[in-house]
Amino acid sequence: MDYIKLLVEDIHSVTMATINSEGKPITRIIDLMLYDKEGIYFLTARGKSFYQELMDQEYISLTGLKGKVSFSLSGKVKNIGSHKLDEIFLKNTYMQSIYPEETRKALDVFCLYEASGEYFDISDPAHIKRAPITINSKEHGAYYTITNRCIHCGKCETICPQRCIHNEVIDVSQCLHCGACLEICPVQAIEFKGVKKRRKEDVCLMNMCMIEDDKGHVLVQNKVNDSYTGITFPGGHIEKEEIFKDAMIREVKEETGLTIKNPYLCGLYHWNKHSIHNIILVCYEMTIVKWK
Ligand code: SF4
Ligand code: SF4
Repeated sequence: MDYIKLLVEDIHSVTMATINSEGKPITRIIDLMLYDKEGIYFLTARGKSFYQELMDQEYISLTGLKGKVSFSLSGKVKNIGSHKLDEIFLKNTYMQSIYPEETRKALDVFCLYEASGEYFDISDPAHIKRAPITINSKEHGAYYTITNRCIHCGKCETICPQRCIHNEVIDVSQCLHCGACLEICPVQAIEFKGVKKRRKEDVCLMNMCMIEDDKGHVLVQNKVNDSYTGITFPGGHIEKEEIFKDAMIREVKEETGLTIKNPYLCGLYHWNKHSIHNIILVCYEMTIVKWK
């Protein structure tokens, strides 16, 4: 079966996901316009936040659904500008009404050029079907397998809801990925392959500055009606790509009106909440350039 052809021509409108500027997942419906051996093509206008997300992340996830058949793909995208734009408008004539004549110049074409995912069909619930789909990728998705640690107890065959284990071999085209076999196996002979462990950490960087005058007075704020309430040193979040020192000078200015220079790092405070490393860079500042 030509899954890519089905996805682009039969399903055509898919749900596509990126991460928004707040680090949260966001989806929208996107039409898949064309495909060839290089990948799948779609487009968006340069003024949309979706465009910025594509440019920043160069990665998407999509799902297409028709009845009880779904297609999913995740992978790398690149901006190919106006290349293939005319071809897209020729093949998808409705686009000429959305962006008539020269207005199509607001659009850029993106190519999903390296991706993997799967076809999943539950039209017959007792006999599901799944198959890997790839675009220029060696990854073939996740699958359960029985290793040579098997002691032939037969428990996995009995518990499998799809009855897709025969003679200690899992038929991956019918496996639900429910994990019941892995849980019941007494000797951990079953492995879930192809799922990469995440190697990046999420970090939230903040700063805080202690300002002391020559008499030993320390400047603090008494915050009310804020995300934090109480006595604290001036500080806040470090913006994306901002130099730490610049962030500290900016925060002190915003919060106190004071202009400082050359803050230096004297320590950091770190805690982990909901898998996010929160790090406060603590600075000590002696030089105040300008009072408000
Ligand atoms: S449950 Fe484990 S040991 Fe038993 S047959 Fe299945 S894979 Fe082999
Ligand atoms: S993961 Fe679930 S469906 Fe797949 S082989 Fe194991 S028990 Fe069967």
